[in-house]
Amino acid sequence: MIERSVVVRVHDGLHARPATQFVKLAKSFACDVEIRCNGRGASTKSAVKLMLLGVKENDEATLRADGEDAADAVAALATFLQTPDAGDVDLTAAPKPAAAPTPAPSVARTDRGVPASEGTAIGPAFAFFPGSLDIQPRTLAPEEIGPEHERYRTALAATVASFREARARPSLRRDDAAIIDALVEVAEDSDFIAAVTRAIGAGRDAPSAVEEAGRSIAASFEALTDPYLRARAEDIRSVTRAIILSLLGRRDMTLADLPKGAVIVADEIAALDLAKATLADIGGIVCRKGAATSHVAIMARAHGIPAVLGFPADEARLKSARTVALDGSSGEVAIDPDAETAARFTGAIAREAAERSALDAYRTVEPQTRDGRRIEIAANLGSLAEIEAARQAGAMGVGLFRTEFLFMERRTLPDEDEQAETYTTLAQAFAPHPVVIRTLDIGGDKPVAGIDFEHEDNPFLGWRGVRMCLERPDVFKPQLRALLRASVVGNVKILLPMIADVGEVRAVRALLDECRAELDAAGHAHGAFELGVMIETPAAVFVAAEIAAEVDFFSVGTNDLTQYVMAADRLNPRVAKLNRTEHPAVLAAIGMAARAARDAGIWIGVCGEAAARPDLIPFFVQNGVTELSMSAASIPRAKKCVTEI
Ligand code: PEP
Ligand code: MG
Repeated sequence: MIERSVVVRVHDGLHARPATQFVKLAKSFACDVEIRCNGRGASTKSAVKLMLLGVKENDEATLRADGEDAADAVAALATFLQTPDAGDVDLTAAPKPAAAPTPAPSVARTDRGVPASEGTAIGPAFAFFPGSLDIQPRTLAPEEIGPEHERYRTALAATVASFREARARPSLRRDDAAIIDALVEVAEDSDFIAAVTRAIGAGRDAPSAVEEAGRSIAASFEALTDPYLRARAEDIRSVTRAIILSLLGRRDMTLADLPKGAVIVADEIAALDLAKATLADIGGIVCRKGAATSHVAIMARAHGIPAVLGFPADEARLKSARTVALDGSSGEVAIDPDAETAARFTGAIAREAAERSALDAYRTVEPQTRDGRRIEIAANLGSLAEIEAARQAGAMGVGLFRTEFLFMERRTLPDEDEQAETYTTLAQAFAPHPVVIRTLDIGGDKPVAGIDFEHEDNPFLGWRGVRMCLERPDVFKPQLRALLRASVVGNVKILLPMIADVGEVRAVRALLDECRAELDAAGHAHGAFELGVMIETPAAVFVAAEIAAEVDFFSVGTNDLTQYVMAADRLNPRVAKLNRTEHPAVLAAIGMAARAARDAGIWIGVCGEAAARPDLIPFFVQNGVTELSMSAASIPRAKKCVTEI
């Protein structure tokens, strides 16, 4: 018997990626090595058991093995455990499954939802409802048991083969490859297979045997406290679903399968699901949930995709739709429109195309009001992939770069170097125009792997944005250092979200000073930058004068400012009629902030969705706003609007 104890140095412990690699290494030896940690043991050849053991960085683990190659196996696995970057690869979310639509005739009529992204569209419906597979458990006759085992083995092999096929795609990103490796490990896990085989042997049909085994393993992961490991439940569910679909001879649809010009109909769409689609192919979006400032709406506007959210149709009606027409400005939706309604929508589409080409001339304009005030029309971006569209639209810089997408599209936090590279690329792409980069603005409503958010009853009033960042300098300081490094380009402005108290600004300044000293010590160059705050809480409005004395600029976040001033949730379609930026209460708040900015001699911009509204642009400009930042698609019209003031 060979036995060796080591202190685990793998960064963040044996979560998905390192666990997958560790199991692969273990499987390359003939002997079975047992790992013991925290009083429990597991085979090193089972990824599921290993992850459930919850081995963390700095835990003591003991490896034990018997057999011919035991010494080599224990030595190799011990070395792995002592290598900090053994699993240092980022993972992004696993593909989300979707159910196929069932075409059926339906009555033509129009209804209204919340207008979320302007533009008119008509196209074939693409129902995106990743729902339950509706498995009916069945008891097998004794003579069916043998063939059922075979059916399961065939489905498992087909599932693994399809994962491997996806893994071999040359265009695959490194992070996606790591996810697929983890899924293969789960599918082939000896424990998972044993549980299914046992159930089939006891007379259960294969789909329900797989479903039950998968559910029970996923539940074990969900019960863990480590957020990385809890998130593995999603992998188990993906694999379970894939095997069941293979057993049933069915295939899931994903947004990647979307036919060109189709209108997505869904309950809701995560921004990440949308990111997986070829955005240029999406004709329109209709969702039962969400409202104008949901992130899916913001993405839709960024890419000029018409969208209506909070659409009050029942799920069955949406699932059975064959053709959908929508008007993202009025919120009108027609499911299976009759010829007359379809012609009305088609006419509107043609008029919009004509209007767009008339606005084309404004792309290159640097707009001024009639009395000569120059207004900067900038773009709101969520990723580097949107730079080109913004430049094409005539963006005079970036008024809001939402860094949270950088953190959300993955399962580990981006490090300082990666962030510095991203921010530098962004700054260079628009130099010498200003680039306003907002520090991480996430909370319980937008969770991020690597930050443990507890459940909050009111996430919009909770631990989010700068509140979270100030309590997590391990997350915040790498971002601030990365921003300081990108500031050498000369046009970077740092924007702080969710500021409610001047003390928060001072605390960030103190951290920035620390970061500068750390960069000096590490020999990294850093440059001058402006520091600004989002005006998006009523508190920031009331103490705007005090805050203005400490910062270089204000940027009004009308999305949140409206929801907080009106006490009307920005995501809840039932209170959408209260969630209006044009309400006198919200305009009064913006006026107060603008006065404070003018008195302090600092500039003020608007980066919420209202910045693009032709009916509000004159109000903003008359109140001293000199920068308006918006989705790329809205830029030419906003420029035209300014020239008419
Ligand atoms: C806002 O609140 O207006 C804003 C621009 O930020 P976000 O929509 O990302 O909360
Ligand atoms: Mg906001």
